[in-house]
Amino acid sequence: MTPISANLQAVRGRIDAAARAAGRDPAGIALLAVSKTWPADCVRAAASAGQRAFGENYVQEGCAKAVGLAALGLEWHFIGPLQSNKTRPVAEAFAWVHSVDRLKIAERLSAQRPPGKPPLNVCLQVNVSGEATKSGCAPADAPALAHAVAALPNLRLRGLMCIPEPTNDVAGQHAAFRTLRDLCERLRQEGLPLDTLSMGMSHDLEAAIAEGATLVRVGTAIFGERNTP
Ligand SMILES: *Cc1c(COP(=O)(O)O)cnc(C)c1O
Repeated sequence: MTPISANLQAVRGRIDAAARAAGRDPAGIALLAVSKTWPADCVRAAASAGQRAFGENYVQEGCAKAVGLAALGLEWHFIGPLQSNKTRPVAEAFAWVHSVDRLKIAERLSAQRPPGKPPLNVCLQVNVSGEATKSGCAPADAPALAHAVAALPNLRLRGLMCIPEPTNDVAGQHAAFRTLRDLCERLRQEGLPLDTLSMGMSHDLEAAIAEGATLVRVGTAIFGERNTP
């Protein structure tokens, strides 16, 4: 077994165990393999081990992999900060964007989604830790943004995403994820058909799954420590 396929198996094992501990069906939790900074061959290795969904943070790098590996039929998710002048290649090459945090970005993605492709799946990124430097909309702004994004023609609003402030304090991890879950529940009550809670990474996926994550984004535990940011 290559290290990547062994790592994938271990991560799936963690997901299954966390789901069982929470009384949830592991099938309700998708694994997004975050391949940023790793070469296409690492994606191929993970794909050979059965992984289908991959996450990328940087527009140029992500589009190059999505286009170069198109023959593999993988599903590409954009999860990094997105500037408005870089939306077009993302709207063209990706199936999902998890990091929509303002209307202008969503409007451009909708306008630039190529005709004939299915709607672009999007999540709103919400800043649940209140850090000034992090991207993501404020929780108080999320409802208005969600309703506006849901009305755009070529997008399908699927749910919410967060990157909480890193902490080893398990109670703190749970609290941040619960904030996102509660917000998602409120938006559902307001009539939005959301089915995705994108939360949990290598170090905190257990807490995220306990709080209702439907998709965990895992890089380091699959591919190893990154040398570049
Ligand atoms: C890098 C990254 C991940 C993966 O983080 P790991 O700690 O390597 O698992 C998940 N989500 C986002 C938005 C990222 O930028």
